Amino acid sequence: MNNHHWTHLKLDHSIEEMGEISYSLIERLYPLCRSITGEGTLETLKILNENFDLNIKCVATGTQVFDWNIPKEWNIREAYIESLSGKKIIDFKHSNLHVVSYSYPVDKVVPLAELEKHLHSIPEHPDWIPYRTAYYNETWGFCLSEKQRQTLQDEHYRVCIDSDLKDGHLHYGDYFIPGESRDEFLIFTHICHPSLCNDNLSGIAIATQLAKVLSSQTSLNKSYRFVFAPATIGSITWLHQNQDSLHNIRAGLVLAVAGDAGPLTYKKNRNKECYTDQLVEHVLAANGRPYKTVAFSPYGYDERQFCSPGINLPIGSLMRTPNGCYPEYHTSADNLGLVQPEYLADTISAYLDVINIFENNAIFLNQSPFGEPQLGKRGLYRKTGGENIERSILAKLWVLNLSDGEHSLLEIAERANMRFSEIQVAAEELYSTDLLELTT
Ligand code: ZN
Repeated sequence: MNNHHWTHLKLDHSIEEMGEISYSLIERLYPLCRSITGEGTLETLKILNENFDLNIKCVATGTQVFDWNIPKEWNIREAYIESLSGKKIIDFKHSNLHVVSYSYPVDKVVPLAELEKHLHSIPEHPDWIPYRTAYYNETWGFCLSEKQRQTLQDEHYRVCIDSDLKDGHLHYGDYFIPGESRDEFLIFTHICHPSLCNDNLSGIAIATQLAKVLSSQTSLNKSYRFVFAPATIGSITWLHQNQDSLHNIRAGLVLAVAGDAGPLTYKKNRNKECYTDQLVEHVLAANGRPYKTVAFSPYGYDERQFCSPGINLPIGSLMRTPNGCYPEYHTSADNLGLVQPEYLADTISAYLDVINIFENNAIFLNQSPFGEPQLGKRGLYRKTGGENIERSILAKLWVLNLSDGEHSLLEIAERANMRFSEIQVAAEELYSTDLLELTT
């Protein structure tokens, strides 16, 4: 006989407080200059390590990971555009978005016409600084607001980027919380963006809260893994290094753009049938708030890697407003005003609901399947008959009827058109009697 343990997640803070704590972490991480490699990214992982014992891995430049190679490590000390009289027009000290990420070092006087080829601005949002990268191109560049760009009237400027690209390491963090079963839920969040809040400090901060909740439970049925890694090259590196244990992953989510005012959006897996799709779609339909689901496409965040044909993991992405679908995306306006504690809290709540189902969902077997079992003699039925059956009793009848060894509690909830929590309560009561057993 198998024993089923019902998990009731114990929270040290209210959901609302968790939104506030997430926001504070975002404020702390916001100034750091992150990229796919370099000191700002490592510093970010070290700060997360204060919350739990993160396993920080270093992978050397040149290491082959599937079709890619770990690039040189990029670090930057200062950067500016200066008039020949020595007045700084653009200064990296004011915003780390001012320099194209992975810019080569440069220190020279250039004519304005040449400088223009290395400038990026957004004419339709004249106050915003764009975020640009040049990871695999040997170039340099500055990003600035259109208003700042219009002030450049001199014939020549001095440009200085004091950066280096040297053999070094790519870093990522992996935090594993073992449960009774090796069945694993993976939460992946990217850590390579500099001073941008929704994309993706929101993901980092929420993953940190979820990891803290799960690590503080006395027992868990399932195992959980949190991966904090640079986008694309980081997720590909992690997949390459963990090929032997990927088969344990039963469900998972790419957590990104999770703190803005938009409704929750679920991007489905590439396959028609996917357990994560079932889990998330149930949660979103049950929570009563507006939400969206979008079909898989091979663009977006790291679901691209998890859903590549050779990897094909049951992973989707639960976010708020998708990448590229809000005007502040990849600009300086993705700042501390765009994300808010209440939206972070709302996303945390949905993730906890998903985790709760993943923890408690199981397939049971009705031990008295010949006709309805007599609930009354077990104290599980109403005392007097009436017109309508109470939902709590109806839930028990659904659990008994579909606990034929074929249907999970989540599938029963879907068939009964009830919330998982209602079906779970019914199953817990039945399980406490002789009527229900766990299947092997
Ligand atoms: Zn991004």
